[in-house]
Amino acid sequence: MKIYDAHIHVGQFREDYTTSDEVVDFLTSVGVERFAASSSSSCDGNTLRALPEMVRLVERAGDKVVPVLWLCPEWLEDGTIYEMLNSGIEWRCVKVHGYFHRWEERPDLLDKAIDLARKWEVPLLFHTGGREESDAGSYMDVIKKNEDVTFVLAHCRPVDQAIAVMKACPNCYGDTAFTPTEDVAEMIKEGLADRIMFGTDYPLHITFYPDNNHQEMYGKIIQDFQQVMSEEDWEKVSYRNFEKVFKIC
Ligand SMILES: [Zn+2]
Repeated sequence: MKIYDAHIHVGQFREDYTTSDEVVDFLTSVGVERFAASSSSSCDGNTLRALPEMVRLVERAGDKVVPVLWLCPEWLEDGTIYEMLNSGIEWRCVKVHGYFHRWEERPDLLDKAIDLARKWEVPLLFHTGGREESDAGSYMDVIKKNEDVTFVLAHCRPVDQAIAVMKACPNCYGDTAFTPTEDVAEMIKEGLADRIMFGTDYPLHITFYPDNNHQEMYGKIIQDFQQVMSEEDWEKVSYRNFEKVFKIC
């Protein structure tokens, strides 16, 4: 069974810190062959940490990792973006987090972020959920307007909105990070197996479920998803859509 995980982090998240090496060791232990990852240290705009973490991750994981640039809006104004561009990392996805970083207050900067994705020919990942302005439906217009760019709705929240956006926009995909199994089942039932990528948000489980065995937990997520779709759909969700979105050949 081939598993690619489209939503992984390294670094600081709330009180917890997970090193790039720890993340790679964990993913190897649960049989993940490829993954897309960003540094959650960017949540606080903590560039000083985020960059070396990503450099280490690429050193360690090589072509197993798709490096995701978690962009903070101010980086586009204070020049930090150039540090990222000159870091030697080949960024293969741009992430914007509307819940933490309130991108809706700066539509001009969001356009710049989308232009970056367009120029690099990589997908732009939106965090979804948490408040109305960062719910999946709030990105409908911008995704429609930029039909030459591929978008990914992280978490697919709320699911009815994510379904509506994916149905209306052929350039839009979703990932399953912390998505309830019922919601994944719903999206499959709606005929969206070609648009969903398996993703988990690991290592945030360490923060949310400190007492669990995380390897077992990871295996359980896979099992639960497999139960709500055909083998053929699972192949798409577990790695084929990832190959398409991140251009793995
Ligand atoms: Zn995440």
